[in-house]
Amino acid sequence: MKSPKNKVTIAGAGLAGSYLACLLIKDGYEVEIFERRSDMRKQGAAGGRSINLAISKRGLDALDAIGVKGQLSSKLIPMQGRQIHHKSGEESFQIYGAMQGEGINSVSRSGLNSLLMDQAESLGVKIYFDSPVGHVDLDEKKITLEKSGGSEVLSYDKIIGTDGSGSAVRDALCSKLADFKVDMLPYGYKELTIPPLADGGFAIKKQALHIWPRKKFMLIGLPNPDGSFTGTLFLPLKGDVSFESLSDTDAFEEFFKTEFVDALSLMPKLREEYKQNPIGSLGTIRLSPWYFQDHAILLGDAAHGIVPFYGQGMNCAFESCQEFVAALNKSENKWSQCLPEFMEQRKPHSDAIATLALNNFEEMKDHVADKSFLLKKEVLKRLEERIEGFQTEYSLVTFTNTPYAVALKEGIKQRELVESATAGVESFDELDWDQIDTLALDYVHNMNAEGTQ
Ligand code: FAD
Repeated sequence: MKSPKNKVTIAGAGLAGSYLACLLIKDGYEVEIFERRSDMRKQGAAGGRSINLAISKRGLDALDAIGVKGQLSSKLIPMQGRQIHHKSGEESFQIYGAMQGEGINSVSRSGLNSLLMDQAESLGVKIYFDSPVGHVDLDEKKITLEKSGGSEVLSYDKIIGTDGSGSAVRDALCSKLADFKVDMLPYGYKELTIPPLADGGFAIKKQALHIWPRKKFMLIGLPNPDGSFTGTLFLPLKGDVSFESLSDTDAFEEFFKTEFVDALSLMPKLREEYKQNPIGSLGTIRLSPWYFQDHAILLGDAAHGIVPFYGQGMNCAFESCQEFVAALNKSENKWSQCLPEFMEQRKPHSDAIATLALNNFEEMKDHVADKSFLLKKEVLKRLEERIEGFQTEYSLVTFTNTPYAVALKEGIKQRELVESATAGVESFDELDWDQIDTLALDYVHNMNAEGTQ
């Protein structure tokens, strides 16, 4: 059992912080959170980012562990596959899973964050809003809150920074020589809405993640419970076709007419939203170590923020919180032992999902419309149905809790397999299934022999 005097101070009541607080208080810790923003449950959407998110098995399992999965299920919109909108106006559907019911789910970020905060408070966590953590003094174990009425200095026993990609706790760690790098993608994103139809229905297929892949840029859309879709345009920041070159609203509308004409007809507020909505940035955060001595650690985006293209940032953050609390238990709450052990065990997996997310950007914006890519994807999907124990990289990441580094490694081997199976083949009918099955059976046999699953 942990020592009862341990109190944990968390910076940031976002997805990771609110979730972690539930785990820690259930484990017997006293938990307080300081959150920079106002309470989004009182302020509505203005208190938080409006985007919806894709939640998959890891995230749902994590929510189950704190008893809120049931409350969330009626608010989820299942997305069984990708609906591809080609430039020609044609559409095609690519199912995600080989098994019945496999898919991902769209969830409101603020809805989920509010649910987690409700749960944390009902368990006894104290959340202080409008309380940005400014300076963190790791030597004196003190934080300064930059409140509107003036700053306030407080002591802490243990501090956890779940204060997102711009983390103040991380700034303090960096002043102690933590190795920090953020690789910015030369792309930004902007949210644009496809409103519901007049009768409240969905203007495009409801149970799908919509993608308009255009090689150098893309638009995606995820459904919301009110019948709308949140569209996200990912576009280079600079260059021929970029947020910079399309800063003029007329030019932007013209661009939409050429590239996304079907979406344009569904976005009556495109011009307004283009002017009003900010351009978000995208980056991969690499940091080492994530902790300081036995009293400070970062979790979630603050430690390992990734680009959003595998839909795993939040799923990964929840899993990190679970593994951290499991490591605390394993070390019998000896933080000096737990912090380095946890990081050593978790970092290869957060690094792996960072790589997978960057790879998936190429797949989504470019390859999903490519014939040879689709042939390979189809072979992998068929193998999942035909060969027991064969699971694609996407399935391993999305529908199982297989460690991310294992999924990355298996994905590389599967790509080699499918390259060899489709060499010189142009269409599905030309495939030699005896040869492909043999390759796949060998692969599964070797994988089992290596004991990677
Ligand atoms: P955040 O959610 O950013 O929370 C940080 C919290 O800390 C916030 O409440 C903030 O106000 C607070 N804070 C910040 N600074 C301070 C301070 N100094 N003091 C006190 N409080 C502070 N992930 C998925 O799993 N699926 C998806 O489909 C998906 N889509 C995404 C789409 C986009 C466009 C983006 C940008 C991200 C997406 N992600 C997705 C990633 C996901 O949003 C993050 O991984 C997740 O929000 C991380 O949670 P967090 O709590 O670490 O950080």
